[in-house]
Amino acid sequence: MRPDVLNPLFAEITALPGIGPRFAKLFQTLLGGGKVADLCWHLPYGLIDRRYAPALSQAEPGRVATVTLRVLSHLPGRGPRQPYRVLCADDSGEIELTFFHAHEAYLKKQLPEGETRVVSGKIETFGGRLQMTHPDHIVPASQAESVKTVEPVYRLTSGLTLKTVNKAIVGALKKAPELPEWLDTSHRARNAWPAWRDALQAAHHPQSQGDLQPDAPARQRLAYDELLANQLALSLVRQNQRRIRGRSIAGDGRLIEKAIAALPFTLTASQRQAWSEIEQDMSAETRMMRLLQGDVGSGKTVVALLAMLRAIESGAQAALMAPTEILARQHFQTIQPLAEAAGLDCLLLTGRDKGKARVALLARLENGDAPLVIGTHALFQEDVAFKDLALAVVDEQHRFGVHQRMTLAAKGRGVDFLVMTATPIPRTLLLTSYGDMDVSRLTEKPAGRQPVDTRVLPLDRQPDVIEGVGRALKDGAKVYWVCPLVAESEVSDLAAVEDRHRQLAARFGEEAVGLVHGRLKGAEKDAVMEAFRTGPVKVLVATTVIEVGVDVPEASVMVIEHAERFGLAQLHQLRGRIGRGSAKSSCLLLYQTPLGETARERLKAIRESEDGFKIAEEDLRLRGAGELLGTRQSGLPEFRLADLAFHAELLAVARDDARLILERDPELTGERGQSLRILLYLFERDEGVRYLRSG
Ligand code: ADP
Ligand code: MG
Repeated sequence: MRPDVLNPLFAEITALPGIGPRFAKLFQTLLGGGKVADLCWHLPYGLIDRRYAPALSQAEPGRVATVTLRVLSHLPGRGPRQPYRVLCADDSGEIELTFFHAHEAYLKKQLPEGETRVVSGKIETFGGRLQMTHPDHIVPASQAESVKTVEPVYRLTSGLTLKTVNKAIVGALKKAPELPEWLDTSHRARNAWPAWRDALQAAHHPQSQGDLQPDAPARQRLAYDELLANQLALSLVRQNQRRIRGRSIAGDGRLIEKAIAALPFTLTASQRQAWSEIEQDMSAETRMMRLLQGDVGSGKTVVALLAMLRAIESGAQAALMAPTEILARQHFQTIQPLAEAAGLDCLLLTGRDKGKARVALLARLENGDAPLVIGTHALFQEDVAFKDLALAVVDEQHRFGVHQRMTLAAKGRGVDFLVMTATPIPRTLLLTSYGDMDVSRLTEKPAGRQPVDTRVLPLDRQPDVIEGVGRALKDGAKVYWVCPLVAESEVSDLAAVEDRHRQLAARFGEEAVGLVHGRLKGAEKDAVMEAFRTGPVKVLVATTVIEVGVDVPEASVMVIEHAERFGLAQLHQLRGRIGRGSAKSSCLLLYQTPLGETARERLKAIRESEDGFKIAEEDLRLRGAGELLGTRQSGLPEFRLADLAFHAELLAVARDDARLILERDPELTGERGQSLRILLYLFERDEGVRYLRSG
């Protein structure tokens, strides 16, 4: 249960004055959430200093100023396009306030002739005279001080003005409660960090450019809080998982030897290294929690297979879980022949198995007759039981939650976990999502791979690209043609893929061009993929559903339309579909002009390197420059206050802090522990709290 003290922060923003349902919708778009806390996390990126209050004769054009003026006369525009002007003065000079599309009555009320008003806005000159167009503030002299401040500037969305956002945030900050301190006192003192509420207030009231920087004390503190919540939640999961007794898994090598003998290649040094790390983990009494990280095509599946065979050698069962049907089938196709060579039966269990057939599969798992199963989410189902599950391999884990991992763990005894991901995650970010795991990396590509020739072209070169595809097809190539989909539900995007499919089918023949997208049913998707793998389809028009792990080694050409819309990690993953066989491969990235600065750099990075880890570091650097693209696809946690391009050091400190906290107070029952629970709820990492004995 969330502590009551946080309730004001988790109230809907419609509870704030002046925010009705219409604004609430816009705020939802702007903030990605509709709670008071979401407003609090929306920090300013700039400021307007209205403290500059010169006499008119001294006023510098181009600066924002707050001036005290006597209203001399109103000069309505002569035609509808002419601005409405109000002539004003102080003791040193004159200025014209200019309004377009003015409402005379309103302005007369705001600026009555003969009276004094305080006016704030940008000073300009026009024809040698001072002018201010649409002042931001007009108030009576008595309210001068309320205007002569530094105003924070926030990122907006269309339909929301700065004034509205400012007002909403002021309202939200008023609701922010005092919270008990969860930071270590000396750690906080050393950094001169303010208390939480003060930090929040300060971050929203920058007085100088320095206050807007990521290293300003208030911002650092807020970022640290967020990172600490993240690390503490992960440490709680880790603590919980280690609490379950592990088991030592040893084998005699008989299955592994057979499988290795059946491989048409020898293992790379990276694969051997990873396997030896896994072997050690498995034979240890503690549970294995290991992440196997390696680029697409680096050969993770084989390593996973060895681990599964080891579990089976010890007399137990092993399961491999993939996030999609296509992937599960593909793993099955790779693994089944090797398992067979080792004399084993391999089951496939997906959502498509129903009725009697499913019951029969489940029975074989339950009575231990089937030692090895590959599947999708279907493996989580309540009625799936194992005789003795000892190892769970989870592919592309970010698509599964920690909670699901636990569900699977509960189906066995001391289950060892091996998680595989092809998302090259920079070292700094690894901590944020896999802080609870040990890491093995496959850093080399299997021998015999050729580099992919990557080119970047404007979209209007498409006719040439189609000609090029035609030539490649004549040489026997298979081609991926990727169209971007923002959301699988967007009808217009779907229409675009279908159009492209029609166009290419008209050019290369109906038979030779296939179409696969997220709206297709599982069986339809499989049929198209199979036709591309082994059948008549030579060009596969696809949305990003092919992103994860699809393996057709003969495919050697990839065209990506609107490459500028993809994140770096995603482009890298897509390109990883080709260059898997021994043929020379090429990747054509088509972009829409004009290309923004960041998009240009992104495409340059992908053209110049094939090293996923390098690309990932570059991605982080570019995203630090303000672009958040790619985070969501990669499944990494998104931070609201921390920016890992700047706060990576804080993350490492937070990790150590979290470990120390749990060493001293594993159940978070002490005074600081209670405050830390509030922190977890504040950042909605409360799934961590569930793992405490006294939640
Ligand atoms: P990942 O899962 O990391 O994307 P896979 O395990 O699917 O990669 O391997 C990609 C391809 O490379 C598969 O066809 C696999 O048989 C092959 N492969 C794996 N290891 C090696 C190796 N050491 N030498 C040559 N080919 C390999
Ligand atoms: Mg794979």
